[in-house]
Amino acid sequence: MIVRCAVVGNPISHSLSPLIHEQFAAQAGIALSYEKIEGDDLLVEEQIVRFFKQGGRGLNITLPFKLRACDMASIKTPRCQQAKAANTLWMKNNQLHADNTDGIGLIKDLERYLDLTNKTVLIVGAGGAARGIIAPLLTAKAKLTVVNRTFAKAKDLAEAFPSLNYLPFESLGDPFDVIINATSASLADNQLQLPASLIQRQPFCYDLAYRRDGPTPFVASALKQGCLAVDGLGMLVEQAAEAFFIWHGFRPETESVLARLRHSRQA
Ligand code: NAP
Repeated sequence: MIVRCAVVGNPISHSLSPLIHEQFAAQAGIALSYEKIEGDDLLVEEQIVRFFKQGGRGLNITLPFKLRACDMASIKTPRCQQAKAANTLWMKNNQLHADNTDGIGLIKDLERYLDLTNKTVLIVGAGGAARGIIAPLLTAKAKLTVVNRTFAKAKDLAEAFPSLNYLPFESLGDPFDVIINATSASLADNQLQLPASLIQRQPFCYDLAYRRDGPTPFVASALKQGCLAVDGLGMLVEQAAEAFFIWHGFRPETESVLARLRHSRQA
């Protein structure tokens, strides 16, 4: 029997999720069909319902539908409730279940490079992705500060997570051990405007965004200034592995899948 899964987003043609899930399925010996579905802004809820009515097992949700997917679900994991956004859906006992595996995906990838305990971490951005990574970073005992172009949104986040420090951009200056770019600036080829003093002590720099054709502007600039810097491809593979485990009960090996994606990007 062929198991059907898919990812819904818009735009969706660039998605690497089918490539990742197909490699996981080969490891698990599962016959999988994993499609890309272009979400329709007016009809996405119907598209999701139809997918499961037609026997689909699991759906990944990506930009810009994560909040709407979360709202649709009757059963949400605690991390999905905290993020107020869902990237993984499935049906059980006739009820739509939702999880958010982005945060744990980030932590698993970051742990390849450093121990987060007591590290000072600056999160730039206060959108859906930032909201999804805060609780897992706090659980990993990182000390978090958030800044955002629209200050009110950083303040809102700090109200939801009282141990989170928040600053206006103009007050940035003190160094951090880690800087996480959780904005969508890289997707639009925009460079983040951060004070030079932040980079001088060479923090570890992580961009949640990734590109198929090479480093993001944030990663390229951090590397140029001597920092260790990584994009979000590893997070993408790790969040997919968590979703795969939820749907199929099999925990895939991720290292070789990530290496293959990075290699195909260099080729
Ligand atoms: P979102 O909800 O639309 O939020 C976008 C954020 O970026 C907002 O805080 C926005 O600030 C800020 N921003 C946009 N352009 C900016 C600029 N030029 N300068 C400064 N700030 C800017 O998006 P999201 O869902 O949080 O996604 C954020 C990023 O995470 C995207 O690049 C996405 O691809 C990536 N992501 C990666 C993974 C993965 O698996 N690797 C998973 C999830 C998300 P304002 O509030 O001022 O508008």
